[in-house]
Amino acid sequence: MIVRTRFAPSPTGFLHIGGARTALFSWAYARRHGGKFILRIEDTDLERSTELSVNAILEGMKWLGLDWDEGPFFQMKRLARYKEVADQLVAAGHAYPCWMTREELDDLRKLQTEKGLKPRYDGRWRPERSQGLKKPEGAKPVIRFRTPEEGEVGWNDLVKGPISFPNKELDDLVLLRADGVPTYNFGVVVDDLDMEITHVIRGDDHVNNTPRQLHIFNALVEREKIPAFAHLPMILGADGERLSKRHGAVSVMQYMEEGFLPEALDNYLARLGWSHGNEEVFTRKQLVEWFDLGHVSKSPAQFDPGKALWMNQQYLKHADDVRLSGLTELVLKDMGIDARKGPPIDKVVALLKDRANTVVHLAENARMFYVYEQPIQKDIETQVDTKTRPALQMLKAKLAEVPWDRKSIAAAIAEVLKANAMKMPELAMPVRLLVTGRTQTPSLDAVLELLGRDTVLRRLLV
Ligand code: GLU
Repeated sequence: MIVRTRFAPSPTGFLHIGGARTALFSWAYARRHGGKFILRIEDTDLERSTELSVNAILEGMKWLGLDWDEGPFFQMKRLARYKEVADQLVAAGHAYPCWMTREELDDLRKLQTEKGLKPRYDGRWRPERSQGLKKPEGAKPVIRFRTPEEGEVGWNDLVKGPISFPNKELDDLVLLRADGVPTYNFGVVVDDLDMEITHVIRGDDHVNNTPRQLHIFNALVEREKIPAFAHLPMILGADGERLSKRHGAVSVMQYMEEGFLPEALDNYLARLGWSHGNEEVFTRKQLVEWFDLGHVSKSPAQFDPGKALWMNQQYLKHADDVRLSGLTELVLKDMGIDARKGPPIDKVVALLKDRANTVVHLAENARMFYVYEQPIQKDIETQVDTKTRPALQMLKAKLAEVPWDRKSIAAAIAEVLKANAMKMPELAMPVRLLVTGRTQTPSLDAVLELLGRDTVLRRLLV
């Protein structure tokens, strides 16, 4: 069997963390088994679907490296096909037209609620029960599925294990609306069949839909053609509530803007509800080698922004300097800074990347190499006093002479410390402040070397 998985987002917003995790797991499962990964856009909610959102989803997936083999398929381009299958189901007696009006449905709901019953359609337009009912003039019917009223329906979920529902809890769901647009549960079944999906991997908010879909599958094909189901656990915020905007960035592209590397976010997402022993940091290649549904957790995963940052930091440390330079330059450019006017950006990045947890953070640290953040007088006065001034002057004189490399600069600093019986921070702090405007920088000799002799001497005003 060739494994075929799909990601089927509804384009009603950006690609969020939860959707991206679902896409990643479906993608990884297909790649793990040498199968195909299909992208399908479920755009049947005409009021909420937008092209902007479609583009945002495609962009997010591309950025994360979740390449698809087929699609994107759009459900709204497949209306004729849903109609065809609905007709087929009607002809076989599995479905029927229903002319119940909105008002009648509302009345029924009200009555049922008053009686303490669960509101549900009562099957009144089932052909054998509809004698005497009058079709409203000119109205188009919806098509409803004839759900078995007895027995139960179940499946062996690849994550959650056996699940079953009594059929009496399910009513005759609408397959096709009067305007010919399929409901989610119908569109999904027709598409999963037509696209020969073997494994439906999706969020567990769909567990309640699966029994309805299974009935439709059963009406259309033999058991072997029905895909396996794997429902992924929810993602919660730190407060135990379902992850939402309240918990900070939930849009994948926001992570890009905040300076995450896509492979870091993939790695973080992979760990949201799946594990491979104690492995935390692993490559996409390893993910593809290791991924299995058996190790997807049954219980909810917790999203931890701090951990995501930590993960990104691990990736930044080992990222290629040239690639990081390009990304950092872009952020600097957004800050209005031209990184060509200053020390080579790849050297700056190499010096700073160990201490940054995002590219934006890296750019903020790199900033001092390209714009002079002049220290304020009050700060200078606290750092440059009668004791430090002569030492600073001595250092300035030495720096004017020494060969301009890190080792020689370090030696000059050491000599000045010794001659003045000072400790490193006593000298380094004022030098940092005067030269960079900051009191915290990486190793002073490295910073000075990168800034260049002229700049350093010009700024060391003592
Ligand atoms: N369009 C559905 C959603 O975005 C897809 C559910 C499914 O994968 O079946 O939730």
